Amino acid sequence: MPNFQNSSQGNILEILATILEIQELDMQMIQLMRLKKERQRELENINAIKGDLTHQVKAKEDEIVELKTIIKISEEELGELQNHIKDLENKQSSIKKVDEFNALSHEMAASDKQRTLKEQSLSDLYDKLTNEEDHLKNFRESLESTTESSKVLENEIFERISAINKEGKVIKEQRDELVKQADPEVFRIYERLLNNKKDRVIVPIENRTCSGCHIQLTPQDENLVRKAERITFCEHCSRILYWAETNEADAQVGTRVRRRRTTKQTA
Ligand SMILES: [Zn+2]
Repeated sequence: MPNFQNSSQGNILEILATILEIQELDMQMIQLMRLKKERQRELENINAIKGDLTHQVKAKEDEIVELKTIIKISEEELGELQNHIKDLENKQSSIKKVDEFNALSHEMAASDKQRTLKEQSLSDLYDKLTNEEDHLKNFRESLESTTESSKVLENEIFERISAINKEGKVIKEQRDELVKQADPEVFRIYERLLNNKKDRVIVPIENRTCSGCHIQLTPQDENLVRKAERITFCEHCSRILYWAETNEADAQVGTRVRRRRTTKQTA
């Protein structure tokens, strides 16, 4: 089992007690950052929904502009057709030859048919425009009500994030104080392990098992940890092990640390 001879020869349990306090603060901080990320994700979701609605409104507006252009062109074409038919009618009265008259009648009939078609298509376009304008109205209302209702939610989230930041600041101050008192060498090891695992890295032995990786230890390992003459690492997960007195009595270092803080907080 790899171990680390403490240079200060101080009581290992005492050294670890300070770092265990830091560890509990770090666990709180990790939890806080997780909560903060969740809140930020909620904000992103709200913004995505608003973004979608804004996009729908814009797309519908563009569609309507395009539709109006098509209608304008169709109206102009219909006007031209109507003028053309009027010209043909005028011409018809001055024609004397039968075959010319027939040809003109034929052309008039064709133009008339074209006009009917154009009128029908325009009528369809007007219906479509009314429809699209209704859709646009709905999209706009939906965007407006979503923006309105999400304001309350967004403010709530901002407040929660701000509370998280405040809590984080307090934790950081407490931590900074403890770090000053901590054995620098052991603290460096602790931080390196924490960065790797993002979890508790100083753990008690429970039932001759590392409570970090839950792998059984040998009696020799357990003895080493119990003697607490040096820092002992779990050879399976590299966590620092300590002997919790609760294995025999009710005085576990971790519990003591936690209990102390709980009393502090409620005081
Ligand atoms: Zn382990």
